[in-house]
Amino acid sequence: MIPTKAYAAHTATTPLAPFEFQRRSVGEHDILIDIAYCGVCHSDLHQARGEWGNSTFPMVPGHEIVGKITQVGGKVSRHKVGDMAGVGCFVDSCRSCRSCKEGIEQYCEGHLALTYNSMEKDLVTPTQGGYSSQIVVDENYALKVSSKLDLKAVAPLLCAGITTYSPLRHWKIGTGHRLGVLGLGGLGHMGVKFGVALGAEVTVISTSTSKEADARRLGAHDFLNSKDEAAVKKATERFDFILDTVSAEHDLNQTLNMIRRDGTLILVGVPPEAPQVHPFSLIPRRRAVAGSMIGGIKETQEMLDFCAANNIVSDVEVIEMSYINEAYERMAKGDVRYRFVIDMKTL
Ligand code: NAP
Ligand code: ZN
Ligand code: ZN
Repeated sequence: MIPTKAYAAHTATTPLAPFEFQRRSVGEHDILIDIAYCGVCHSDLHQARGEWGNSTFPMVPGHEIVGKITQVGGKVSRHKVGDMAGVGCFVDSCRSCRSCKEGIEQYCEGHLALTYNSMEKDLVTPTQGGYSSQIVVDENYALKVSSKLDLKAVAPLLCAGITTYSPLRHWKIGTGHRLGVLGLGGLGHMGVKFGVALGAEVTVISTSTSKEADARRLGAHDFLNSKDEAAVKKATERFDFILDTVSAEHDLNQTLNMIRRDGTLILVGVPPEAPQVHPFSLIPRRRAVAGSMIGGIKETQEMLDFCAANNIVSDVEVIEMSYINEAYERMAKGDVRYRFVIDMKTL
């Protein structure tokens, strides 16, 4: 076993605090990663605070993990000691269902071992995430990370990056499409970068007028204040797609009204409260509401390679481990530009 230092949520209502636990020893197919940086996703906050009703404690959050490989098992062939590697939102899956066989393991119909707040493949050992000194992971669930990019700004690609890249690719969004990105946070700012890189005309739809200059700097062609009713009305039937990254309750009917006939609202944000959709927001324009969850290992690697080729990384604010509770407070208020990343040396 490998003694591991971490920060954990011990209950849904207490601040995260130091925690020690054991990781499994490095098995034949495992690699050991010394974690350099871990991004802070709003899903970490939702789960640490029990907002989705599925939390188990103690919980070490964190699924945007990058670091150096320090040990590999005897049968490891894809990675070697000294390489940089990444771990995203899951660390194993059943490997035999239709989705696993198609390489879209995130939709595993068997057991998907999420990186934390879940169980390992054995269904009894709790998984623990990246707010920790190291992680042991099966080599098939670790990603190769290019040393060309700034490592701390790569970490958020493992969740915020793939969660926005995957739906843009699935719906083949690009040149000729008008894409709205709803919410300019960790996911939203990556959605803007990918949308622009893929050739779409991108509009940020935000509650924060203070983010307009940033939206344009990130490459957005336009900015729409979702609190400005006249501006929202003017945007009726404007978009082919809206990528909804919002983490809190908001009006989906207002959002749908901005989508043209046969367009799609793609939900990636997971507010604690279930939203209401009126059938009349869909029927008269044959609109669709869809969801999308992170991405498979193959596509995550493709996204990382796309980022290396196109020089795309996240805009980050690096924090010390002990700042995590303040970081959560700021994230809850939408005050992140645009991803907190923990420097794990400070653990
Ligand atoms: P984040 O950085 O906190 O960004 C969320 C953004 O939503 C905020 O910056 C804000 O943007 C907007 N917002 C917040 N409260 C709002 C409100 N009351 N009304 C309207 N807009 C509001 O969060 P994130 O890390 O990007 O995560 C976003 C959501 O995606 C979370 O619910 C997370 O759990 C979920 N998620 C899903 C997946 C998946 O696989 N589907 C993966 C990762 C995360 P403005 O200031 O621009 O309005
Ligand atoms: Zn995440
Ligand atoms: Zn499966």
